[in-house]
Amino acid sequence: MFNVEAIRKDFPILNRKVNGKPLVYFDNAATSQTPQQVIDVIVDYYSNYNANIHRGVHALSQEATDKYEAARLTIQKHFNAKHAYEIIYTSGTTESINLVAHGFAALLNESDEVIVSALEHHSNIVPWQMLCEKTGATLKVIPMNQEGELDMVVYAQLLSNKTKLVFVNHISNALGTINPIESIIKQAHNVGAAVLIDGAQACPHVKPDVQALNVDFYVTSAHKICGPTGVGMLYGKQEWLEKLPPYQGGGEMIDQVSFEKTTYAGLPHKFEAGTPNICGGIAFGAAIDYMNTVGFETIANYENELLKYGTEKLLEIEGLKIYGTAKNKTSVISFNLEGIHPYDVGTLLDKMGIAVRTGHHCAQPIMDYFKIPGTIRASFAFYNTKQEIDALVEGVKKAKMMLS
Ligand SMILES: *Cc1c(COP(=O)(O)O)cnc(C)c1O
Repeated sequence: MFNVEAIRKDFPILNRKVNGKPLVYFDNAATSQTPQQVIDVIVDYYSNYNANIHRGVHALSQEATDKYEAARLTIQKHFNAKHAYEIIYTSGTTESINLVAHGFAALLNESDEVIVSALEHHSNIVPWQMLCEKTGATLKVIPMNQEGELDMVVYAQLLSNKTKLVFVNHISNALGTINPIESIIKQAHNVGAAVLIDGAQACPHVKPDVQALNVDFYVTSAHKICGPTGVGMLYGKQEWLEKLPPYQGGGEMIDQVSFEKTTYAGLPHKFEAGTPNICGGIAFGAAIDYMNTVGFETIANYENELLKYGTEKLLEIEGLKIYGTAKNKTSVISFNLEGIHPYDVGTLLDKMGIAVRTGHHCAQPIMDYFKIPGTIRASFAFYNTKQEIDALVEGVKKAKMMLS
């Protein structure tokens, strides 16, 4: 049996008050909270073995290097990558996507096409637009429907032997839609295109298997899965990582440097220039360990319960509309109150200690599709409770009364 009260004890922040009220934290799709187990790892690093890695002969440097590389193995195992060197540490999803987009600039020309979906976060749109500007390649868009699901019929029509790359998210941060990535990947491979999956919003809810998916690139951020900000990863198939040129030049990514010619280090170091976020990488591993201790099946079952409960309760409020009603979705509820600006609702909820997101959620094309400026988004994690959802529902009712 899942004991949410025991889980909540792991998260010190959940004890605090906001505006005199107990914190109700429903902004998990923006960033998740950090359990004591991960905080302890961060404190231990800076208290006991803070040192630069890979270069030192001294004990601290070796300890830091060992832990940093052990965390890479934890990440490899979690995502079931074939090799540890297929896991590249980055500063997060955004940097991982930019790294791949930068690399593809050397591989594309103006007769090539790349495909994005209508459901993307700006981080999985803008780097590719920059790539298309640089190379002259054409960007095509898989449309979505009123439920917030991708139109797979149009997707099949967009694919051709001109398609070189497809990039979609595994789960939408704005609507919670779980995209059919297995099918997206298979169809792309049938025309010889590579696929990048933005997993930032999926990793808090599911455990992706990159070999089973046969995906070419999978990217995510640690801070969405109970880890710290400023660290994340790029998984890339070895053959692709070898094909792509380095992203940044600097220390650590070289083999030999002279003013005549520099040769690059092998994987993964070719893509890891400069001193990385060492503590962050180690804490990323600890966050994955923590999530696995709770268990992804347990997490998904419990969050589905919260989603069902929250959806039912919120829909009882007259004039409330939910955006994103896909059959397959995670615990994200994006909604609006008729005739009321989402920002005003968010501000009143904050006064009641309830943290939600309001706005376009870095996904303006989705808001344009629904012809709205934004939504109020409540995103639930496994440490949230039904009582907290009750508080949200009461809060929204109060806000509605005050604003209409
Ligand atoms: C959060 C998020 C991102 C951006 O992640 P960063 O950590 O800000 O780089 C990209 N895509 C999706 C789907 C997200 O949820």
